[in-house]
Amino acid sequence: MDIENQYDEIARCNRCGFCQVACPVFRATGHEAGVARGRIALLRALIEKRVEWDRQLEEPLFACLLCGACTANCFPAVATADLVLDARSEYLERVGRNRLHRLLFKHLLPHPRRLRLAARAAALGKRSGLSRVAAALGLLRIFGRDFPRAEQIVDRFPEQAFREQVKPGTIEGKGTLRIGYFVGCGTDLLFPDVARSTLALLCELGSTVEVLDNCCCGLPPLTYGDRAAARDLAAKNLPLVAGDRFDAIVTDCSSCAAFLKKYPTLFEPSDPLHKPAQACAERVCDLSQLLTSAGGTLPGGGLPADWREKPIVTYHDPCHASRGQGLVEEPREILRSIPGLEYRELPEADWCCGGAGSYAVAHYDLSQQVLQRKIDNVQRSGAEVLVTSCPACIVQLSHGIRKRGLAVRVCHLSELTNRQE
Ligand code: SF4
Ligand code: SF4
Repeated sequence: MDIENQYDEIARCNRCGFCQVACPVFRATGHEAGVARGRIALLRALIEKRVEWDRQLEEPLFACLLCGACTANCFPAVATADLVLDARSEYLERVGRNRLHRLLFKHLLPHPRRLRLAARAAALGKRSGLSRVAAALGLLRIFGRDFPRAEQIVDRFPEQAFREQVKPGTIEGKGTLRIGYFVGCGTDLLFPDVARSTLALLCELGSTVEVLDNCCCGLPPLTYGDRAAARDLAAKNLPLVAGDRFDAIVTDCSSCAAFLKKYPTLFEPSDPLHKPAQACAERVCDLSQLLTSAGGTLPGGGLPADWREKPIVTYHDPCHASRGQGLVEEPREILRSIPGLEYRELPEADWCCGGAGSYAVAHYDLSQQVLQRKIDNVQRSGAEVLVTSCPACIVQLSHGIRKRGLAVRVCHLSELTNRQE
């Protein structure tokens, strides 16, 4: 929606400042421009034409994590993240698009195979040390000011992506559900072991499991304000899950799950894709939802043999699981049901880790400041295993743990629930 049409929503902010305590960016920087109240004041000034639409807006508009913590701490529940997204869309229209984003959103994200080739090139660069050399020479700055330092966030790339190991197609399972497995880009490219664990779980619960040949869900372009690119990606995915072929469309990426549930908002009710988007959203299931609804004893299980007896395990809430989908109890219930571990609650478990998709790459320093608080809490908890359910969080948390030199394993929920040898 045009930001001009959001004046009433913006006017609901009473400037109380309660959002300050909840905003990770404000708590890291102490700058009013970084908190919901400051961002809303900027949007009001833009609508009232007291501020021009120009490149200087890029930092204040794009440095929001879209974590939604402000809204959860705001009496009138002003939807700041949605307002910021609308303002980003308008920024792209009025000020211009980033050429690298256009290339990524139009020519890479719609094509999983091209994306895998790009990941392989990145892996090669990392293994050969070329990317470090390029970073040292400043050649990676074309990807953004912070990219040369952000390159270290991903420790290593696997030899093969998940869908190179397991080709898209249907697998017979032991359960009763017809499941479509929506493979998120992060899981596919960076965490094939997580995907294999998920697939094993799904095969226990499903009569058939189809590993979908889906492309990116569309969330990355949307977070950069590119609604048209997000719509194009959704339009490419919807035919794969059309009709009633699946009882559940499951994903182990909480960010994908949250966004797939929002597909209907991408299409006007008069758009022929609105109904398929609604049908898709109704069947989408975050893995933790599916596992909880399965009830009783979870399939698989058993902790790795080389782990200490009764390890202390804690859980980090991805923003797209807790605030995005209201999934707070589900992952905890699953963890508590796994024998042989001690579950311990993480202080401020739903505090954003600073990963926020590609935020950690585009705003490396700020994302690291946000991450410090999370890692402090992990250290305070005494946990030996940190579990979560979003690949971007796994990357960011693992980076923080490595930098701090802690002996903490970072795992996806599915790895702990159904470990693959
Ligand atoms: S966004 Fe909400 S919490 Fe923040 S100042 Fe406005 S009304 Fe208060
Ligand atoms: S969405 Fe998160 S980062 Fe953005 S203003 Fe709200 S609390 Fe701060």
